[in-house]
Amino acid sequence: MKPTFILIALGATLFAAGCSAGPTNSPAAMNNSTNSTMKFPLQRTEAEWRKLLTPEQYHVLREAGTERAFTGKYWNTKEPGVYRCAACGEILFKSDNKFDSGCGWPSFSEIAAQGKVITREDDSLGMKRTEVLCANCGSHLGHVFDDGPEPTGLRYCINSASIDFSDTNATASKTAEIK
Ligand SMILES: [Zn+2]
Repeated sequence: MKPTFILIALGATLFAAGCSAGPTNSPAAMNNSTNSTMKFPLQRTEAEWRKLLTPEQYHVLREAGTERAFTGKYWNTKEPGVYRCAACGEILFKSDNKFDSGCGWPSFSEIAAQGKVITREDDSLGMKRTEVLCANCGSHLGHVFDDGPEPTGLRYCINSASIDFSDTNATASKTAEIK
């Protein structure tokens, strides 16, 4: 199923947000189970996710948590490679599209390929933001803002805890390991 409506939502909900508006932790979002409203190709129970993920990864990916700025392992990395979903192993972002936003979170101007992530409105904390989720497993990644560099003008502000880096020559896929 192609969630094309999400693309419409993305266009309608991109709001200007400065670097101060990072993916702030959101208690409200923790009450929203991503799997209760959308169906994703990869389905796991929360008990299974807890076994597969570290406590920090679980908090960010499955409870829409947010790591503190400048504390994640990838906010300043520049090595060539790809960034996979830390939950399911799908390639979501490429180093080619990573840029230094100064925000303290890994920032990408583009996704690795169309359909790799989906977005939805997030009105928590009195802010209108656009949440970014893995399209394969529904895990929370971060938020997207419209103050990124051209040509996309987008800034995908992603938690390091939500992604795993593989250098360009690596062929191992976490997907294969946990399927
Ligand atoms: Zn995923």
